Amino acid sequence: MNMIDLVRKNIKELKPYSAARYTESAESYEYLDANENPFGEWNRYPDPLQKKLKKKISGFKNICDSKIFLGNGSDEIIDLVIRTFCEPGVDAILSPEPGYGIYKTYSQINNVSYIPVLLNGDFSLNVNTIKQGITPNTKLIFLCSPNNPTGNCIPLSAIKSVLEIFKGIVFVDEAYIDFAEAKSAIELIDEYPNLIVSQTFSKAWGLAGLRLGMAFAQKEMVDILNKVKPPYNVDDFTQMYASKVIDEYDIVKEQIKYLNNQKNWLINELNNLSIISKVYPSDANFILIKTEFYRDMMIYLKENNIIIRDRSTQALCEQCVRITVGSQTQNKLLINLLKNFKSN
Ligand SMILES: *Cc1c(COP(=O)(O)O)cnc(C)c1O
Repeated sequence: MNMIDLVRKNIKELKPYSAARYTESAESYEYLDANENPFGEWNRYPDPLQKKLKKKISGFKNICDSKIFLGNGSDEIIDLVIRTFCEPGVDAILSPEPGYGIYKTYSQINNVSYIPVLLNGDFSLNVNTIKQGITPNTKLIFLCSPNNPTGNCIPLSAIKSVLEIFKGIVFVDEAYIDFAEAKSAIELIDEYPNLIVSQTFSKAWGLAGLRLGMAFAQKEMVDILNKVKPPYNVDDFTQMYASKVIDEYDIVKEQIKYLNNQKNWLINELNNLSIISKVYPSDANFILIKTEFYRDMMIYLKENNIIIRDRSTQALCEQCVRITVGSQTQNKLLINLLKNFKSN
């Protein structure tokens, strides 16, 4: 299979916009090419290909920098991949549900039909249902591992099964992989030219406000995405700051350990509350719970200054809410409030 054949014709033929300084790397010139103001601290356009930051990520993840793509959050990467491969009004996208809502929203924005297929009752991936949902127009499959909002990982063997039956693009969203013990699907990219794996600095890395997402794929895929992306999609401050945070990974690692410990404590406490009928296991930094009293519980918590996420309208998630693991103080407050929660 040639991955290039999956790219939309107009994108394949696109001559990319050439940003000023695209090809220059030396920093000792007098720059009079990009109509910037010569004064100030943030007056220069950022590096469009984020070379320094990619080098840093390359060393950290032990992946060649030509296989790294960076986006303005991984949400931007999701949108870019749809626009690169899916012909509006023609192609279709398939994704298991319950899942991350952005896949459907961006499909609709791009006028690409979105086909949901159900996960199994225990939220595991059903490769057969996926197989049945694939049509000749299916161009892209989104898989999310650990899955939002259910919290479970998809085993690499199941991801491989999807790659074996589907020759379009398979996008594995690993926004929460840093919290999980499971192995990343990155190890499959050399084997499958149609695989793209995304991760983010927004969750475990604590940089949601900066907007930085990563994707890992073969060089051909990265090159095409670079053609389609806005030239300056990752700003200068973000490029510098993310490098600094990678240097301080020990802090992030400690926070992940802390949050996973807090998660286990929360799961234990939630399981002791009789009003909650189910606490789902989680490989992420959130917990999905089921309770018939979810509506009143959300109102009660909000009156007490705590916001949790209603997931009850999602497939297979009737009466479910999602709770993010917070600081120990926040988690204790939550549990104390729930202990005093009287459902009518
Ligand atoms: C939070 C989240 C993202 C968003 O990541 P950004 O990098 O902040 O855009 C992507 N995928 C899933 C499944 C998420 O839950």
